Amino acid sequence: MIPGDTATIDRPGLDRLVDVLHDRGLRVIGPVLRDGAIILDVLESGAQLPAGWGVETAPGRYRVRQREDDAVFAHCAGPSSWKQFLHPPHRKLGDIEPDLTVESAPRSTVPTAFLGVRGCDLAAMGILEHVLGDAVYPDRSSPAGRRPFLVAVNCTEPSTVCFCASMGTGPGVSTGFDLALTELIDSAGHRFVVDIGTDAGAEILTAVRPSTAAATDIARARDAVASAASRMGRAMPDLDLRALIRDSLESPHWDDVASRCLTCANCTMVCPTCFCTTTEDVTDLTGDHAERWQRWASCFEPDFSYLHGGSVRQSGASRYRQWLSHKLSTWYDQFGSSGCVGCGRCIAWCPAGIDITAEVARLAELRPGTTDDDG
Ligand code: SF4
Ligand code: SF4
Repeated sequence: MIPGDTATIDRPGLDRLVDVLHDRGLRVIGPVLRDGAIILDVLESGAQLPAGWGVETAPGRYRVRQREDDAVFAHCAGPSSWKQFLHPPHRKLGDIEPDLTVESAPRSTVPTAFLGVRGCDLAAMGILEHVLGDAVYPDRSSPAGRRPFLVAVNCTEPSTVCFCASMGTGPGVSTGFDLALTELIDSAGHRFVVDIGTDAGAEILTAVRPSTAAATDIARARDAVASAASRMGRAMPDLDLRALIRDSLESPHWDDVASRCLTCANCTMVCPTCFCTTTEDVTDLTGDHAERWQRWASCFEPDFSYLHGGSVRQSGASRYRQWLSHKLSTWYDQFGSSGCVGCGRCIAWCPAGIDITAEVARLAELRPGTTDDDG
C-alpha cells in the first residue's frame, strides 16, 4: 500500500489500529466519554472509544446522548481540543535559581498519535503550528517537539453548531493526515474506509491487516461526507469579513453583545486556535525555591490588556470586539489566514449562547450604509 490508496477495516480493525500504534511506542490520544462529555484523553485500548454515543448541541448547550447504533465518531467537537496536547494549558517553563537565572524544564519526549482528528481541528493544528512554531521566538511545546501521527476522521454527522463547510475546513479532510477514516454503518456492517496519506500511514495500516476497499464503500463514504457538508447547522455569512469588521468598529452591536456576554473566557478556552498565554513566577513558602509557569490567558480577562495605569480594554464590548476582530480580520494580517475554523465550540460552550455566526450576520445588517431595504 502507498499514499493515495484506500482500504477498509472493520470495528475490531479499529481496535487493532490502536494496538499497533501502541506497539510502535506511541502514546495514543483519542475521544473518550467522561463526566457527561466526549473529551480527548489517553487511550489504553479501542474499547475506551465512545461507541454508541452521540451529542446534541445548540448555542449554550451540549448533551451526550445514547445512539441506536455503535458509531464511534458520530459526534461533533467536544469541550477539549488537540490544542491542550500541543500547547498545554499549564506548563512549567523552568526553575528559577538563586542567581535569578532560569533553568528550562525538560519537555515531554513521548511520541504521540492523535486518533479522530476532524477537518476543522486539522486546520486548527496547522494554524497553531504556524502561530507558535514559525514565530520569531518559536514555542515548540508539542510532545517531543515533533508532529504527532495523525489519524483523521471525515465527519458524517455535523452538529447544529458546526460551520466548517463555510470556513473551508471540513467536513472532509484532504491533506495533512497519515490515515483518514470514514465511518460507515449499514446492512453490510460497521466498517471504516481508510485513506492513506503518508508512507508512515501505509506502514501502520498494513500491520492492521485491512481489506481491499469495495468501490461501493468508497462511493458511500464520499457521499456521506458530501451529505454532511449540506447538513451543516450553521454557516458563516459569505462576506468579506475583514471589510465588514473594518466598517463595524463603532457598531452599536458590540454593546448589544456585551449586554449578554459574561466575559467568562469560555470561548477562548475551548477554541482550538486561541493561543494566548501569560507567565507567572511562584515561590514555595520558604522562599528558597521558585518556578516559572506558563498558562493559557484570554483577551476577555481585564488584566490581559493591562498597561501602566490600567486595562486598555475595560468594557465587555471592547473585549468581545477584540476577540471577534482578531479571529476574523487581523489574524489574516498577522498569520495569513482566518483564526476561526468553524468548529462551533465557542457557540456550544458559551453560557450565554452567543453565536459568532449570528453576531457577524447582525454586524452586517447594521453596517454603515446598509439600510433595512438592502436586507
Ligand atoms: S462570548 Fe460567551 S463564552 Fe465568550 S466570554 Fe462572552 S459569555 Fe463567555
Ligand atoms: S472561534 Fe469558535 S467556531 Fe471558530 S475556531 Fe474558535 S471555537 Fe471554533
